[in-house]
Amino acid sequence: MSVPAIERTMIPIAKPVVGDAELEAVRRPLSTGWLTQGPEVAAFEREFAAFVGAPHACAVSNCTTALHLALRAAGVRAGDEVITVSHSFIATANAIRYCGAVPVFVDVHPDTYNIDPSRIASALSPRTRALLVVHQLGMPCDLAAIVEQARRHGVPVIEDAACAAGSEILWNGRWERIGRPHGDIACFSFHPRKVMTTGDGGMLTTANPEFDRQFRLWRQHSMSVSDAARHTSQKVVVEEYTELGFNYRMTDLQAAIGRVQLERLPAMVERRRALAQNYLSRLAAIPGLHLPAEPEWARSNWQSFCVRVPAGCDRGAVMQTMLDDGISTRRGVMCAHTEPAYRLEAWRTPRRDGGLGVGESISADGLILPLYDAMSEADQSRVVASLEDAIGRHTE
Ligand SMILES: *Cc1c(COP(=O)(O)O)cnc(C)c1O
Repeated sequence: MSVPAIERTMIPIAKPVVGDAELEAVRRPLSTGWLTQGPEVAAFEREFAAFVGAPHACAVSNCTTALHLALRAAGVRAGDEVITVSHSFIATANAIRYCGAVPVFVDVHPDTYNIDPSRIASALSPRTRALLVVHQLGMPCDLAAIVEQARRHGVPVIEDAACAAGSEILWNGRWERIGRPHGDIACFSFHPRKVMTTGDGGMLTTANPEFDRQFRLWRQHSMSVSDAARHTSQKVVVEEYTELGFNYRMTDLQAAIGRVQLERLPAMVERRRALAQNYLSRLAAIPGLHLPAEPEWARSNWQSFCVRVPAGCDRGAVMQTMLDDGISTRRGVMCAHTEPAYRLEAWRTPRRDGGLGVGESISADGLILPLYDAMSEADQSRVVASLEDAIGRHTE
């Protein structure tokens, strides 16, 4: 165990799959000179919509801006409440606050790390304007139970699918991709830590043409005439700015890369599923280690593989020992309500069902293990051996 990390190859937490095909792809916009909101963005949107099975897809600068536009389109305004989870990357809750609205946090389920549908009812109020649910770490949340409650209360469902490109859910007896309209709007991220990447980037999918029209307007300063329309017009066109808008554009360089990544996605997901299965069978031998599990109606893309260390185990010490072994890990998903940006808020984020203890405990004992396309079986064996050794050493 005491081989210095420096002499071993480091096993990173994640590693994007990028290569010559992406380099070739960015030559297209660079050689035509059309660098943003051009043909590559349009093609990426068409291809992504076809891939997930959505009538509309609108590309934006990242998933955080996608969430902001989705909430706005759903009618979320100052003083409204949006039900969501605290146990998520902080951007989920932040997007609600960008609208001047209040996140109402409900707890997650200990097995899926996703929103617990049985806790939604008690969080609803006359001010509830939307449900913002997360497919955490690529694991689909229980959309059927969520959508059923939301429809009954007349509240739209927005899916934070930042991590879930390529994940699937069993819907009326058929496996369907996340992003096909199950809720009202789904938001994706193409940050390098996600399964497919454009460096930074995001996508909104919906069945609602009016939402899609608004996304397109708002992402481009609410400019009444698109760049493409002005460029091709034989007559002078003067645009106007119809309402408050934003600059949430994706560039054509990003979109050109995204088109290649989308082609790679099925194989990347297949590879991640094989690696995850290998982890699941190898790690089952470690006593007290809690493993992630797919409900029978969900197929994860395994964007992240998060275990929970045994009771009495010092997670920080485990992470340090593994790092000394040349293996990067990360803590489990954070909880927004414990961060200063939320703790110190004068309005105190409300919650109505008696606590967020499950999310807090997963944040405390969750441990994300390395998982990436180029990972070999030998790499995985090193991770398993190091984890087992570290847990043995750091558990009371
Ligand atoms: C990564 C992530 C985001 C933010 O995505 P960006 O593209 O970086 O803005 C939002 N929500 C969740 C759950 C995420 O994992």
